Amino acid sequence: MRIPLAKPAILDSDVEAVIRVLRTPNLAMGPGLAEFEQAIAAYLGSPFAVAVNSGTSALHLALRCLDLHEGDEVIVPSFAFAAIANVLLQERIAPVFVDIDQRTLNPTPAAIQAAIGPRTRAVLVVHTFGYPAEIDVIREITRGHKLRLIEDACEALGAEVRGKKVGSFGDAALFAFYPNKQITTGEGGILVTADPAVAHRAKLLRSQGKDDSLDWAGQHTEIGYSYRISDINCALGTAQLSRLDGRLEQRQKLAASYEARLRHHPAIRPPLSACPFGRISWFAYAVQLAENSTRQDRDRVWQSLLDRGIGAGRYFAPLHNQPLLQDRHRRSGSLAVTESVASRVLALPFFVGLTEDQIEEVCSTFLGLLTPT
Ligand SMILES: *Cc1c(COP(=O)(O)O)cnc(C)c1O
Repeated sequence: MRIPLAKPAILDSDVEAVIRVLRTPNLAMGPGLAEFEQAIAAYLGSPFAVAVNSGTSALHLALRCLDLHEGDEVIVPSFAFAAIANVLLQERIAPVFVDIDQRTLNPTPAAIQAAIGPRTRAVLVVHTFGYPAEIDVIREITRGHKLRLIEDACEALGAEVRGKKVGSFGDAALFAFYPNKQITTGEGGILVTADPAVAHRAKLLRSQGKDDSLDWAGQHTEIGYSYRISDINCALGTAQLSRLDGRLEQRQKLAASYEARLRHHPAIRPPLSACPFGRISWFAYAVQLAENSTRQDRDRVWQSLLDRGIGAGRYFAPLHNQPLLQDRHRRSGSLAVTESVASRVLALPFFVGLTEDQIEEVCSTFLGLLTPT
């Protein structure tokens, strides 16, 4: 791709931070791990953080640590990343899909409230594309019904709701650091919690379920995993995190630049440019084609952009329609908005380092494709 969809911004100082670790014997479970965990916890204002090898691993640990089991139901949007379906089904937990708001792309608190049933044990909120869900209101609902609350904040590091960082509201929250996210560790993720018991359990499940506080002969009390992340990855993450605030400002400017060019086009619905109750952490710039466009229209534009060397993304295909989910989910009400948005959404190139000239080229190419001559 001449202009990729996403790209990490790696500075010489990031490279040096990684090399410094390589010159020590501590490539794993060393001081770089603890340093990264503490930096993330401090940034979020959350007591505990447990770094792992992916966001998906962090989600898996969250389900295990919050005691969600086979037969339990978890309320979740269908307009979401496949990791969510995979992890829930691995644990034989049934997703209950709720529809999203057409503009925020997140479920509303009212939709979540309406989806609660007798087997519901938890709500899994996704802060989609970095636009925060109204998580403080949702927190009140889950408290009232004695439900667990998990935040998938993988796309929303730095987003806020009424002055408080997302990821600090739930019983557990997860972030991910794949190279297309706001900061990267190459591969990596982290579980964040205010509950010391959850943090303790996540740490032992991360590494074979070995509980060092127990006698040597009986340290393995439950099924554990190999979800560790190396200090090499963590060093990159700590270096990247130190620049996050500046990065988020740059991403906000890129979004404004796209918005200025696309705002007045009748065939495009740009993403919301501000959040009345918080702060967006721009992950992707995902526009929607007009309501009367078909999936074929969107796919034609998507393919034409790729043919011209411009990255574009069709995320996400609704989870409830995946063959994997047949007979393994419940729906709360209609998922019409999810289906409509998913067939019309298109993410455009979005990364720190994207130039004004490139945005101009992306937009003029994109707009040209919408009005074929
Ligand atoms: C990136 C992401 C994840 C986790 O991704 P990994 O590839 O496992 O690190 C989970 N949920 C959402 C919404 C994501 O965007």
